[in-house]
Amino acid sequence: MSKIKTRFAPSPTGYLHVGGARTALYSWLYSRHNKGEFVLRIEDTDLERSTQPAIDAIMDGMNWLNLNWDEGPYYQTKRFDRYNQVIDQMLSAGTAYRCYCSKERLEQLREDQMAKGEKPRYDGCCRGGNHNHSADEPHVVRFLNPQEGSVIFDDKIRGPIEFSNQELDDLIIRRTDGSPTYNFCVVIDDWDMEITHVIRGEDHINNTPRQINILKALGAPVPEYAHVSMILGDDGKKLSKRYNAVSVMQYRDDGYLPEALLNYLVRLGWSHGDQEIFTIDEMVEHFTLEAISKSASAFNTDKLLWLNHHYINTLPAEKVAVHLDWHIKQQNIDTSNGPSLVELIKLLGERCKTLKEMAESCHYFYVDFETFEEAAAKKHLRPVARQPLEVVRDKLSAITEWTAENVHQAIQDTADELEVGMGKVGMPLRVAVTGAGQSPGLDVTVHAIGKTRSVARINKALDFITERENQA
Ligand code: GLU
Repeated sequence: MSKIKTRFAPSPTGYLHVGGARTALYSWLYSRHNKGEFVLRIEDTDLERSTQPAIDAIMDGMNWLNLNWDEGPYYQTKRFDRYNQVIDQMLSAGTAYRCYCSKERLEQLREDQMAKGEKPRYDGCCRGGNHNHSADEPHVVRFLNPQEGSVIFDDKIRGPIEFSNQELDDLIIRRTDGSPTYNFCVVIDDWDMEITHVIRGEDHINNTPRQINILKALGAPVPEYAHVSMILGDDGKKLSKRYNAVSVMQYRDDGYLPEALLNYLVRLGWSHGDQEIFTIDEMVEHFTLEAISKSASAFNTDKLLWLNHHYINTLPAEKVAVHLDWHIKQQNIDTSNGPSLVELIKLLGERCKTLKEMAESCHYFYVDFETFEEAAAKKHLRPVARQPLEVVRDKLSAITEWTAENVHQAIQDTADELEVGMGKVGMPLRVAVTGAGQSPGLDVTVHAIGKTRSVARINKALDFITERENQA
């Protein structure tokens, strides 16, 4: 068998959304599983709706997800000569013909058919050169679709699908202005690019019999087809902008790791036993088209969050750090005088489901704060906390080797000396050094904040208590 070759062929009329990303992932995985090739093709023939920002957004999405391609990106708009060359050959071979029917005639035909309750379709008036026009008069070129029999293809996901040729029109393949039409370009591309497996959304099922007929007329090999079902929103309705039909880059912005989104997307309509978590290598190893589900899949934001939390805590921290860095920059945090990003991930990973959350909740490791969180201060920075804070400050100051263990010991010793529970020392200390009532373990937190900074913040908390006493 020839080398497996798949393609992702987005129309650049918008960003890469989750549905498109899943189609891209499935095509990519199928080629990788079979040690084949993956082609990226930009279907930009719709000049009015295609935009450069959309092309850029698609590339950004593919790059962020790390779905690398072996060939392309090809652009259909750069291949018009080739399409026209094939159309001319088809005209000579008689598999396509010039149609001079006027708009008015076609409209009338349509109305008549509708009035008779028939499905509107071209009646083949100009077939077989059956007209008195010269070739250079305005015309379209139509494909001579077979009139008998049917087209059957064995969809790799949905099983055999049959269309009667009688239902198919003689498709326009070149418009009056000389531009080739969408379905035709796809056919020539899949042929020229030697695509063996077309994996795409189910909204293209109706195009498939037309495309197969053209391929056959050209004597071109017919690829295998696999039509992937749609994705529904959290609410079970069609994916809308409100429900996750947003750009994949929005998921980056919201603090998801590409690994989590890919794992989420692969399971959205594909399964391998009851395994939920897949490394990229495992996806590649197990991926088959047959295991893709026929039914629509519903989006589940909680599961995506769960996977993201899993990946934040299990991927090598160095890898997560690359993505976290982007969020840290969004927050304008200078991390040079605090824990490294790798340390930060170890500190906050358990507590954070997204990298955005992590970046938003790490400020106190790097930047001094002006005020304490009101509720936490009210509860924990009271006169009764003065002595524990003073004692723990002095013990922290006296540490010669600044380790988390020694920090822990200082807190423990303070509690022992004052004969109070750890909480009586720990909570005021936490609010003093972080400004808030919640943080990772106090020993590692104080350690990461550093000695000088921790001591200065404890003094500030003591001032706060004094002020409070004076006000009372
Ligand atoms: N350009 C089409 C789309 O974005 C895909 C066509 C295909 O995969 O054949 O929906």
